[in-house]
Amino acid sequence: MTIAIRNIISILKANWVGKNDVAVIDSISIDSRSLQNDSNTLFFAISGQNHNGHEYIEDLISKNVEHFVVEYIPENLKDKANFLVVENTLEAFQKFATFYRSQFEFPVIGITGSNGKTIVKEWLNFLLSPDYNIIRSPKSYNSQVGVPLSVLGINEKHNLGIFEAGISMINEMEKLQKIIQPTIGILTNIGSAHDEGFSDVGEKIKEKLKLFSNVNVLIVNKNKTISCFINPKTKQFTWSSDDKKADVFITTSKTENKTIIQCTYLEDTFPVEIPFQDQASIENAIHCLVLMLYFGYNPTVINARMSELYPIEMRLKIKTGSNNCTIIDDSYSSDFQSLKIALDFLEHQKQHKKKTIILSDIFQSGLTDEELYSQVSLLIISNKISRVIAIGETISKFKRKFINGIAFENTNEFIDAFDTLDFQNETILIKGARDFHFEQIVTLLEHKTHETVLEINLNAITHNLNFYKSKLNPSTKLMVMIKAFGYGSGDFEIAKLLEHHKVNYLGVAFSDEGIALKNAGITIPIMVLNPESTSFDAIINHQLEPEIYSIKGLKAFIKIAELKKITHYPIHIKIDTGMHRLGFQESDFPELIELLTNNELVKIKSILSHMATSDSIEYKDFSISQIQLFDKLSSELKAALKINPIRHILNTAGISNFPDAQFDMVRLGIGLYGISSDDDEQKYLQNVGTLKSLISQIHTIPKGDSVGYGRRFIAKRESKIATIPIGYADGISRHLGNNVGYVLINNKKAPIIGSVCMDMLMVDATDVECKEGNTVIIFGEQPTVKEIAKLLNTIPYEILTSISQRVKRIFYRE
Ligand SMILES: *Cc1c(COP(=O)(O)O)cnc(C)c1O
Repeated sequence: MTIAIRNIISILKANWVGKNDVAVIDSISIDSRSLQNDSNTLFFAISGQNHNGHEYIEDLISKNVEHFVVEYIPENLKDKANFLVVENTLEAFQKFATFYRSQFEFPVIGITGSNGKTIVKEWLNFLLSPDYNIIRSPKSYNSQVGVPLSVLGINEKHNLGIFEAGISMINEMEKLQKIIQPTIGILTNIGSAHDEGFSDVGEKIKEKLKLFSNVNVLIVNKNKTISCFINPKTKQFTWSSDDKKADVFITTSKTENKTIIQCTYLEDTFPVEIPFQDQASIENAIHCLVLMLYFGYNPTVINARMSELYPIEMRLKIKTGSNNCTIIDDSYSSDFQSLKIALDFLEHQKQHKKKTIILSDIFQSGLTDEELYSQVSLLIISNKISRVIAIGETISKFKRKFINGIAFENTNEFIDAFDTLDFQNETILIKGARDFHFEQIVTLLEHKTHETVLEINLNAITHNLNFYKSKLNPSTKLMVMIKAFGYGSGDFEIAKLLEHHKVNYLGVAFSDEGIALKNAGITIPIMVLNPESTSFDAIINHQLEPEIYSIKGLKAFIKIAELKKITHYPIHIKIDTGMHRLGFQESDFPELIELLTNNELVKIKSILSHMATSDSIEYKDFSISQIQLFDKLSSELKAALKINPIRHILNTAGISNFPDAQFDMVRLGIGLYGISSDDDEQKYLQNVGTLKSLISQIHTIPKGDSVGYGRRFIAKRESKIATIPIGYADGISRHLGNNVGYVLINNKKAPIIGSVCMDMLMVDATDVECKEGNTVIIFGEQPTVKEIAKLLNTIPYEILTSISQRVKRIFYRE
């Protein structure tokens, strides 16, 4: 795309404030972290409820970005760039995408429904790509922001579009329809529940159908509930398993590990085989099949291609590699759009300076190879990649275009050369089309541990953060506690995310935790809750901010500050208001005030206290008395010292239960990790951590035999016993044995039996269909951490922080 600012001004009806309206832009960005932002980029400063794109403009200007679409011009930046001022930047972004889409005329498939959108889109892409140059939504970019981003990827060479649209509220679909302008519609399915944003299911169906208001044909399951909402003027191409009047009549039968779809169309009946057996996959496959019939494919081609369908992996995963490498695993797709996304993701994870990308041939860009790999090369240069390993017959011909380029004709050649390639202290992005089987490369590079992993959903963390932010007054600052290795969920990765979301402070328990974060490049201030006097020196060297809670500690800190000749060093004063753990008491005040009056060595950044019962209605009066005492004592200190520090007392439960006591800041902890003490509030949070393992071995034992140490399980019937490689050394309490706890295997409960061992435990899987190697969920959506805590008569905090460091953490984004 190349387009003059002048034209964009008129498309957006923007108010232009700047110097250069003849400038031409060639790309659009809404993500300040992208290294692809440059002087030819137009940046849309989108603001949502909890995110304000305008805050990043100053920084972007310093990185040479010159053109911005904004709702207001941030202070002092007026003469520094080109500003296109609009009422609402999101709407302007959508308007621009709508304009851009209307420049192209080719068939576009629009997909919506409650489930299966992304899979149907990815499968159609696979099934149709031999015959078309396809542009499709990357990953599951189907939102008010994702859809315009997807559409902006179109270029002149594409001749088929496949875009998905997802909505959560009324009035959203009309906008997406305008941006996608689909000519062919697919409605995957509609769940029976109505989501929060709709008053009933009917309203939800009507809203979804708006995507198809202008299509030439709608592909849909013939179904009474839905049919009555479809505009009679919309031409339909239907399928059904019980109504023979549908255009395509379908019956299915299952074999060992496949499903045969018998398909009757235009008097002809033929079978199509797919390598799946679950109902959702079958239904998704039928939608693809029906579309292929509509496109006029013959049964032989349909069957040949559909028998090759594969599971879709949509996540980018971060894994720990050997030799201190970090691996970003995107080994299932390779197209230009998703390469851009993966490179941005790589940038967000700045863990190592050195960055390598392992990249396969890229398919169906619509461009010639020369054009394509020139663009790829530019993208790689702008992302400051240190080394490129190109694998594939085509990409290897363009090796000279890449910095430190190394090329291999195929994956096996790379594997043979692996030992000579020296991977260490770097981040490695692995991105390849499916046929290249880059999962083999991931296996080679991965740090070998046992098979148990704790998966951390970074999107869920953002969701929970925003949930709590929405409870805060606009002026309330936010500190997030990431003590104890981020409540067991990982510290650096989470800190990085919080930094991007402009959290004001981080809190850790000990100085070592803070030092690790500073060394990893975190720049937001970090408060240390429990600094030992012996660590004051290190605290100062690493610019950490200590919490001071006693006269003795204060004196010791002042002494070191004097020795190191520093002044105005930020400290935080902790007051004990009833918790009786750490803090100054009222009786310490005269001495405290004396020590701090006219003291130039330290500066009181904040005054805080901590609540003992913020999660309990029973002790509400006690909480209120703590809050009142805090208000009184902190006011006294402010007045005596003539200072105006940040005051804060609320933790997660406090934010929920005492909204009037936010003072200047709050300290969010467990809520970020998806846990609320309030069952109603819990519904609004997303699960963050999933502890997963797999079945190492299955034994079938006769009635009367025992399992494990001490023979604490005796089989009452012939039993199928599965062994899972996770034990108390990984943090699984022994008290979960003997039928107290359970794990989930293929969505069924399997009770933990006998004694939990150090590195293993056994479950009764007699009633569960399962094989060795199947995934086992120890906690996550089910069982929840809260549920397990209850069984063990403890709190979720202990369960989360007990998971041993030998369990590998994998971070992913959806
Ligand atoms: C851990 C901690 C918090 C956060 O508590 P949550 O209950 O996890 O929200 C806040 N303040 C202090 C002093 C803490 O130690």
